[in-house]
Amino acid sequence: MMNRSRRNFLKTSSGAASFCLFGKSAVAQALSHAGSEHPSGKLEPFPLTSIRLGPGIFKEQEEINARYLDSLAVDRLLHSFRMTAGLSSSATPYKGWEDPACELRGHFAGGHFLSAVALASAASGNATLKGRGDELVAGLAACQKKIGTGYLSAYPTELFEHLAQGKPVWAPFYTYHKIMAGLLDMYLLAGNTDALQIAEGMGQWAQEYFVGISIDQRMRMLRTEYGGMNEVLVNLAAVTKKERYLDAAHLFEQPGFLDPLAERRDELQGLHANTHVPKIIGAARMYEATGDRRYREIAEYFLAEVLAVRNYAIGNTSLDEHWKTPPGQLKGTLAWTNAECCVAYNLMKLERLVFGWTADARWMDAYERSLFNCRLGTQNSQGLKQYFFPLAAGYWRTYNSPEESFWCCTGTGVEEFAKFTDTVFFRRGSDVYVNQFIAATLDWKDEGLVIEQVTQFPREQATTLKIKSTRSMPRTIHIRIPAWATQDAAVTVNGLALEAMADPGSYLALRRTWQNGDTIVISLPMQLHQEPLLGDGSATAALYGPLVLAADLGAAPTDEAYRIIHSGDTVPKNLPAASPLPNSGADSGAKTDQWIQLESKQDLRFTTAGESGKYQLMPMYQIGDQRYSVYWQMQALKKQT
Ligand SMILES: [Zn+2]
Repeated sequence: MMNRSRRNFLKTSSGAASFCLFGKSAVAQALSHAGSEHPSGKLEPFPLTSIRLGPGIFKEQEEINARYLDSLAVDRLLHSFRMTAGLSSSATPYKGWEDPACELRGHFAGGHFLSAVALASAASGNATLKGRGDELVAGLAACQKKIGTGYLSAYPTELFEHLAQGKPVWAPFYTYHKIMAGLLDMYLLAGNTDALQIAEGMGQWAQEYFVGISIDQRMRMLRTEYGGMNEVLVNLAAVTKKERYLDAAHLFEQPGFLDPLAERRDELQGLHANTHVPKIIGAARMYEATGDRRYREIAEYFLAEVLAVRNYAIGNTSLDEHWKTPPGQLKGTLAWTNAECCVAYNLMKLERLVFGWTADARWMDAYERSLFNCRLGTQNSQGLKQYFFPLAAGYWRTYNSPEESFWCCTGTGVEEFAKFTDTVFFRRGSDVYVNQFIAATLDWKDEGLVIEQVTQFPREQATTLKIKSTRSMPRTIHIRIPAWATQDAAVTVNGLALEAMADPGSYLALRRTWQNGDTIVISLPMQLHQEPLLGDGSATAALYGPLVLAADLGAAPTDEAYRIIHSGDTVPKNLPAASPLPNSGADSGAKTDQWIQLESKQDLRFTTAGESGKYQLMPMYQIGDQRYSVYWQMQALKKQT
């Protein structure tokens, strides 16, 4: 990321003096919160029902995802649940990780699917998908009732016994978490009260399961991936106000993992990334539920550490699903199997929580980096999702099949693409925070305030906020000025340029008695910059504003087996070796605009400028069927003579 250049009051305007800001001087106030607790308390997201996407790339992707969800049949999703409960089912079960022989069955069918349709119901008012969710909840209720112990899953409790006995088993609590989370989402987002009752039954069963099991044995069992069991139990405690679920959440804590983080030690090498990020989300929620700052310190340290020393430029981490190297050393780690998509989903979930405590723009900068580079673009036109995000040169995107894969990343993918509205705006008291530049309308009914954000960002390097207000009252609208912003960033209110601008990487606070019809325009010109691979100065990614630019290396193989995986496998078979990184023709000390030039601002097209051959570049999210490379080979720095 660019260095933050400190500057103030860069623009003057003769018209600005007449602009009636609330307060003494007609200037905006720049706030920079450097990671400390904000004195005014926690920021909150708005309910998803109060924000709707406007026309643009996010809306298009949301609709594609909704069509995919709509293609799935409830009786087929319910099949393994019914079989496990001893009920009849004549439906054809889905395959891959939902196959009746797969130990993760139910994670998508009764978990991610429920969360996704609940999100779609709240975020876009999709009544069809809400109905599908209600139907599924009714089917699950019947299964739980038939079993009679509170337990509910698409596999028998025998898998938990395997876990207890140390026999090989995949991850029964991981799946159990997804189902509980899906039910809780159906209650919280879609108003299904039966879903809460089922989730409570499951929570009680999980707690009682550990009664009579020694701490040593529980700790052994917790070495197997258990998703966000601690998180969902905290969430259940928060909803029901029942202490017992908080007690149950504590049963899913691992001191061996959390203690080093509390002491600010990075002992992540060797750990499975997506097993561990959800545990930190659980710690973050535990801080919110109990106020115990140790949990907060764990979450903040972990997040800052991963982003600073373990992330790739696209905003995600991991190789072969693990952290395999010491901090800051990603040299030699570019492969097909980088950056499992679920990990970005979970890191972003954590960023939202930590941002809520701190109002620190760096978490929303990180969120934007991941959203535009490794979430947008990971769904194809049929709504199919990626698992890995290859970062070695010459590879391409590969997706799950519609009915034969059902990976974890299919699951987090259908959730992500149903909830693009959830981070655009936040609130604190009567203040509004504009975090992301996405076309969306906030309808804050209690305050009589509508803010319509109109933008084609990032094709348009600006965004417009149109205020509709039924009552006049002073309030502050905080707008993120990204760390990548340049000296030319500017804001106008009702056409008048402001004299002040916040530092890049902070929020610009505009306090005023907003009137119906007021319009704010934020210009955020982008520039080229670059970011070396951590620990390897010879490999560099190029960026334009928040966008990682990928080299277009020609058409990807057309062989279906390379493009869509018709099984639960996550990597295509017989992959060719990666290509060498494309040569930038520049040395590692060169400025980005010395080796890349902008061809079209509107289309976001670039070419290399050096003598090593012309490469075409485009934002990574626009890469579809091409081979690509995110990183470039840089020449060794020439010695000064
Ligand atoms: Zn995954």
